[in-house]
Amino acid sequence: MNTIHLQCDCGRIKGEVRHVAHANCNHLVCYCNDCQEFPRHLGKAGNVLNSWGGTEIVQIPQAWLDITEGADLMRCIRFGKKGIYRWYAGCCNAPIGNTLGPGWPFIGIIHSFIRPKGELADAVGPSRGNVWVEFAAPGAPDDVRKHASAFRLLFRTLRLMLTWKVRGLHQPSAFFSLSGQPVAEPEVLSL
Ligand SMILES: [Zn+2]
Ligand SMILES: [Zn+2]
Repeated sequence: MNTIHLQCDCGRIKGEVRHVAHANCNHLVCYCNDCQEFPRHLGKAGNVLNSWGGTEIVQIPQAWLDITEGADLMRCIRFGKKGIYRWYAGCCNAPIGNTLGPGWPFIGIIHSFIRPKGELADAVGPSRGNVWVEFAAPGAPDDVRKHASAFRLLFRTLRLMLTWKVRGLHQPSAFFSLSGQPVAEPEVLSL
């Protein structure tokens, strides 16, 4: 089991994730429209998106993540009322990660929130593949567009999430209170 360290761009928010290993989380690259829009909205596309608009994330249960400094600086936006909760650093606009909602154990941590760079792959191994590649930028090469892994990866996310839910790993959460209230009121942006 490994630990990964978290830090926003200005260093006022810090945290860590414990217990991670190659087998117990999901390291992937998402090309969906909303994952592209999120860092663009924050002015952080250059830090987050790869050449084809992909965001490298690692999906873990919220109970493994601890914010040790600056928790009060976290902010949240949703694209539309039904959008997932997208968390970022209010101090410097650094994207943090995506949660589905209270009661769901899942958080997808965005690679740029992990410091030092490279610690993610050291802790959990290389990315397992790409999802929502139909939204990748035009001209993306075949190894980006390969669809074969997408269904397997989405199924893996679902399977892990059910396991985490059964184990009650949606709490403790740095993002939702025990009663399910988000720690920062989400700003809902129209699509
Ligand atoms: Zn910051
Ligand atoms: Zn996405």
